[in-house]
Amino acid sequence: HRHVEHATFESVLQAIRQQDFSPAVVDWQAFKAYQAEGGYRLLNGCRQGEVSVESLLTLLEESGLRGLGGAGFPTFRKWQFVRAEAGPRYCVVNADEGEPGTFKDRYYLERRPHQFLEGALISAWAVDAKAIYIYLRDEYPSIRQLLREAISELESEGWIEPGYIQLRRGAGAYICGEESALIESLEGKPGKPRHRPPFVAQKGLFGQPTLVNNVETLYWIPHIHEKGAEWFASQGRHGRKGLRSFSVSGRVQTPGVHLAPAGITLTELIDEYCGGLLPGHQLLGYLPGGASGGILPASKADIPLDFDTLQSEGCFIGSAAIIVLSDQDDLKEVAKNLLAFFADESCGQCTPCRVGTEKMLSLLGHPTWDEPTLESLAQVMMDASICGLGQAAPNPVTSLFRHFRDELIQAKIIVKG
Ligand code: SF4
Repeated sequence: HRHVEHATFESVLQAIRQQDFSPAVVDWQAFKAYQAEGGYRLLNGCRQGEVSVESLLTLLEESGLRGLGGAGFPTFRKWQFVRAEAGPRYCVVNADEGEPGTFKDRYYLERRPHQFLEGALISAWAVDAKAIYIYLRDEYPSIRQLLREAISELESEGWIEPGYIQLRRGAGAYICGEESALIESLEGKPGKPRHRPPFVAQKGLFGQPTLVNNVETLYWIPHIHEKGAEWFASQGRHGRKGLRSFSVSGRVQTPGVHLAPAGITLTELIDEYCGGLLPGHQLLGYLPGGASGGILPASKADIPLDFDTLQSEGCFIGSAAIIVLSDQDDLKEVAKNLLAFFADESCGQCTPCRVGTEKMLSLLGHPTWDEPTLESLAQVMMDASICGLGQAAPNPVTSLFRHFRDELIQAKIIVKG
């Protein structure tokens, strides 16, 4: 490996913004290089008693940092919940990154594994965790190798006891990105989501209180401490706080991971970060949150892309996987494709999801869609599925009914009425 010896945060940020994939930037940063730029200083300060848990939690609260895996739960609160439970406690890192269209965690892990590991160790310090388990997507074999190396650097440098950070492989199941299924899988069982309560913060890995964080959430912690909560919070746009790493794919000139202000609109994101739409394409709509977040029309390209705004449109941003559709895409095929994915990935534990996704997929195969049946099936799936997969699976269909009525009628997919 070549290592980035003198990369500063600003240079990496700049490079990410400019989508600079030159070797000097893409190559991962080793322990010594990270330490040379001040890495692990915060962890050291925490362990030496120079930083208190309370001050760190206040910092996270003021920064507005929310879980960047998809759920968007305030980070400081999640940490508080786990701290309030009796030990022993565990930390789990969700590095499963299975949402279609999402590739931002990979981006950071490949470049700055130690910044992520420092964040993970700080979270473990804050909840006094017995061990950290990283659950890594099996489709990232090179990252597995890289993390192994980075963890052994930490062990040989004396920063952690051997075995304190456990690296575990997923096995390609989308559902294992759901935290309780992930924990089941870590325990060696089939990855099936648990009923809640109890929440994993109370009874998680091995039945103990468990703090589960996404890779990117942890990645930001050293920077937020170094630059201040105000710095992070002030990066947002349209009244929103923070930065988001948008994984952009589809009909744009420059797809990839784009670090942009939280609350940016799709139009701004495409124009300022993605070089515009591909020549000859007209915006038809977009998926704001991968396969699960629904589909929005071009007329909603100027609303802030954030957790709260999209909810009011019946969609969600999740892990900020933006898939841009143009007039050359077929909405019916998009919906079928997404439902086929959910039917394939359903763990089969509950009937509304197991049967509902299959049934919905077969209904979508008809030349004309039976709207009332699809709507009532969607309602049952949303109301009665155990976990987010079954609850979100009808989103492509319900959002098409809500936002693309004219197009569906024009294409004779639904009848007017
Ligand atoms: Fe499994 Fe689907 Fe039920 Fe979730 S909703 S528990 S994925 S069958």
